[in-house]
Amino acid sequence: MGKKALIIGCGGVASVAIHKCCQNSDAFSEICIASRTVSKCDALKAKLEGTTKTKITTAQIDADDVPALTALIEREAPDVVLNLALPYQDLHIMDACLAAKVPYVDTANYEPEDTAHFEYKWQWAYDERYQAAGITALLGSGFDPGVTGVFTAYALKHWFDTIEYIDILDCNAGDHGYPFATNFNPEINIREVSAKGSYWEDGHWVETEPMAIHRVYNFPEIGNKDMYLLHHEEIESLAKNVPGVRRIRFFMTFGESYLTHLRCLEDVGMTSIEPIDFEGQKIVPLQFLKAVLPDPSTLGARTKGKTNIGCIFQGHKDGKPVTKYLYNVCDHEACYKEVGSQAVAYTTGVPAMIGAMLVMDGTWKCPGVHNIEEFDPDPFMDALNRWGLPWQVSDHPDLVE
Ligand code: NDP
Repeated sequence: MGKKALIIGCGGVASVAIHKCCQNSDAFSEICIASRTVSKCDALKAKLEGTTKTKITTAQIDADDVPALTALIEREAPDVVLNLALPYQDLHIMDACLAAKVPYVDTANYEPEDTAHFEYKWQWAYDERYQAAGITALLGSGFDPGVTGVFTAYALKHWFDTIEYIDILDCNAGDHGYPFATNFNPEINIREVSAKGSYWEDGHWVETEPMAIHRVYNFPEIGNKDMYLLHHEEIESLAKNVPGVRRIRFFMTFGESYLTHLRCLEDVGMTSIEPIDFEGQKIVPLQFLKAVLPDPSTLGARTKGKTNIGCIFQGHKDGKPVTKYLYNVCDHEACYKEVGSQAVAYTTGVPAMIGAMLVMDGTWKCPGVHNIEEFDPDPFMDALNRWGLPWQVSDHPDLVE
């Protein structure tokens, strides 16, 4: 029997997740789309109604207003809340889920709005309260974090006794024709890529200057691309959840035009999150920049090319060394044809739908606050193949120096 999800946010990622819920009406018999700008929810409802058996309702909500959000959750009585707003809202939505005793799923970890710094400690601190309330919180059900954690759990379950090295490689070879634009929320994206890099080695963090570590990698179905080491949130949870892991790194590809523009914007202060006075008004330069950049939701129609995101694992099984590369290749134009969005939103929205489904139907039930690699990966891996993100395995991949 189908169940009901309350989806918060109606941006690029949410739009894909909502299309996928509507394709999967057997699981999602009903969804309520609630966001700050209700007209976006209504427009999506109007687009999808008549194409799906899923019943769609909408609501206006400021998710930072915890009493109002709690009242909405209690009124709608969903089986799961899927948070696809921004990382700033995570704790408020977790508070409301706790008060209403409804399971919680998100795709990105909490980040305070006034400090460009993300880590899991704030969300992990809810663990005992979620256990006591008997509800599950699933953190990070996008692609990275998300599928990368599921890939790790799957590799550990089926192929390795121990994994010593993990390299997560995120390649977007899509071309949207603009000299500079970001593929998801520009504010979140630029905060992420302009931060210092870091990786986990032998039990501690090693910090680097932004973009200081550069490699070229020959991605399957794409070819050679420049990639740079970034700090990324799943490194923190994988370091905790993969016993004996010695090193975890995360690399993302960037083109020369993107990096040149980013450096220039940084040099003139446009990526700063410190408010400045402008003609008697306080403005945050990065938020102003977001307002003048192309809206990521408009990139789909013009983006061509593929993404390839995956993990290279090195470890041992029965005393013998083993290497595996698990990855997904996704085509921007095929995504646009199917759901009207480019592949970056698609590769996040599909796993968000899958995570919400598994928590909602009780396949993944474990009261407390958990990262995705703590659950049985098999049902998620099957669902990836079924719902548009088929995965591939290579036993002899090129390794990253
Ligand atoms: P968008 O900016 O496109 O959408 C955000 C949505 O949240 C908008 O609809 C916005 O409303 C709504 N929103 C913002 N603040 C509030 C609030 N206070 N109350 C209610 N609704 C609010 O972002 P994306 O879709 O690109 O990203 C969504 C999430 O996905 C982010 O957390 C991002 O970090 C994460 N992400 C995760 C990835 C992964 O692989 N794990 C990859 C890419 C993104 P409004 O329309 O009014 O602005």
